[in-house]
Amino acid sequence: MPRPKKKEDTAEAASLQISDAGAKGKGVFAARRIELGEVVWDYAGEEEWIKDIPEKLWQYCFQVDYDKYVVPKEGSVGWFMNHSCVPNAVIMGRTKIVALRRIEKGEEVTFDYSTNVGWDGFTMECQCGMKACRKTVKSYSFLPEDLKGHYGACVSGFLLRPFPTS
Ligand SMILES: [Zn+2]
Repeated sequence: MPRPKKKEDTAEAASLQISDAGAKGKGVFAARRIELGEVVWDYAGEEEWIKDIPEKLWQYCFQVDYDKYVVPKEGSVGWFMNHSCVPNAVIMGRTKIVALRRIEKGEEVTFDYSTNVGWDGFTMECQCGMKACRKTVKSYSFLPEDLKGHYGACVSGFLLRPFPTS
């Protein structure tokens, strides 16, 4: 699994552009070759309780804890980054999106939304078009064990902690 490069540990380090991604609407694309382990985006921002976020924004939210979310700036890379069941980027730590392999210029940059969602009511019809598409994307707890093993610790950090019960 990749480790973030220290020197280029900023959202600006990787060059991305937002453009048309067909049926999915807009998506985020590599504007140059991105190497394995590069931080491509950082969702770090103001963390809000889900109940304080208008429902129409929920689909754009990035979950950072069982009860906290970041709403990306409208129109930003974070707003448009799409899911794929076979992604080329993963989540590391609380907010960083890191290249899982080399991403060529022009490729869409994606991560697996199931590795970010800890709310078990979540469900999304998938249009990633991959052979291994799960068709319906759900929360992390519904991920098949082999996929959990594949992602290892490259999921939102809070998902690796038990759900707080008190
Ligand atoms: Zn899919």
